[in-house]
Amino acid sequence: MKKILILLVCFILVGCNDKEIKTIIDYNDKVAISYPVTNISEIDDAVTSYVNQIYDAFKNEAKTCKNPELNISYTYKELNDSVLNISLNAYIDTDKKINKLKTFTYDKKTRKFLAMEDLIDDLDALDYDIKKQLLEKYQEADMEYLSNVSYDFFTIDDANLTVYFNPIELNSSKSEFIYLDIPLTSLKLLIDIDKSKNNDSYLNLKKKHIDETDKVVALTFDDGPTKYTDKVLDILKKYDASATFFVVGNKVDFYDETLIRMLREGNEIGNHSYSHKWLTRLSGEAIEDEINKTQMAIKRSTGYTPTLFRPTYGGSNEKLREHVDLTFIFWDVDSNDWKARNTKQIYNNVVPKIKNGSIVLMHDNHDLTVKSLEKIVKQIKDDGYKFVTVSELLKLKELRES
Ligand code: ZN
Repeated sequence: MKKILILLVCFILVGCNDKEIKTIIDYNDKVAISYPVTNISEIDDAVTSYVNQIYDAFKNEAKTCKNPELNISYTYKELNDSVLNISLNAYIDTDKKINKLKTFTYDKKTRKFLAMEDLIDDLDALDYDIKKQLLEKYQEADMEYLSNVSYDFFTIDDANLTVYFNPIELNSSKSEFIYLDIPLTSLKLLIDIDKSKNNDSYLNLKKKHIDETDKVVALTFDDGPTKYTDKVLDILKKYDASATFFVVGNKVDFYDETLIRMLREGNEIGNHSYSHKWLTRLSGEAIEDEINKTQMAIKRSTGYTPTLFRPTYGGSNEKLREHVDLTFIFWDVDSNDWKARNTKQIYNNVVPKIKNGSIVLMHDNHDLTVKSLEKIVKQIKDDGYKFVTVSELLKLKELRES
């Protein structure tokens, strides 16, 4: 009896510590909400009431709207044994499109919510530095706003403190959030960050707004991640561009930080098999094994589950379609980077062939691809295109056809 009692108490304790992701989906009103439930009442109450407040207002406004959409996603990070950081990104499309971002930082030991000044020593110096960077980057930034800027919206990961600003308030014509990454190494932190804490989930905070009339291009990179991938990410970031990376599953564990970075910076990850076998020649069982192992590896490393699939060698047949329950993505512009002998060839294979809605095939395992990339990205951007992920492109195509 005593044993059963102890087991029961253990079960209740373990049960209480379980955190979960709460998901609400309404296909009619195009509502998709997900947020973490920690079973710590103070933070759960704060998060839930914030979500409900947005959801209720949306339900009200959606009644008189033609194509309303509400999407709330989150990042969840345990900074150490005691401090949690939860950020919620709400995209609300009723009469106009709005992005709302809210950060909750909570200390389990003191049972208090923390502000940025509780986390960082000498916030004045940081504040000065941030404003300087904003003024340099966004000439149109509003001085009046800058003098009152508050740091309500931020995330922290193992490498960076990221602060977010509403473009309207910075007087910027951009529609997506403006953000700055500040390396943790340059800051004096008032709390310890435990890097061994897992990254439960980094969903795209840096989602962009795309209008139906925008000219868009989706760059895709196959066969990574590799030692070159971070350089590709650097270039994308420099030009406010995002891309889709079709990764090979067996490399995922080794480059998990690169994958987290991809998502954090607004890129998308797709499935390109586990070991890059020629899938059309495998048995159904072997195909499923290749796909599922990759899905699991990505989910384990980042918390993200891909929805897109690029067949190895671009080969597809009925059997493959039968055994892969993901959206197949091909391309219309082939960089042929793997057989190019210089950067000019890659440039010429891509830039003159770009059309509105193009999907470009590249590989982030080639030195020459990285070397040619900046010129390509810059030119396409100068030609008036926005770089979107494949899922954003699909959504836009759907919108245009409806
Ligand atoms: Zn490939």
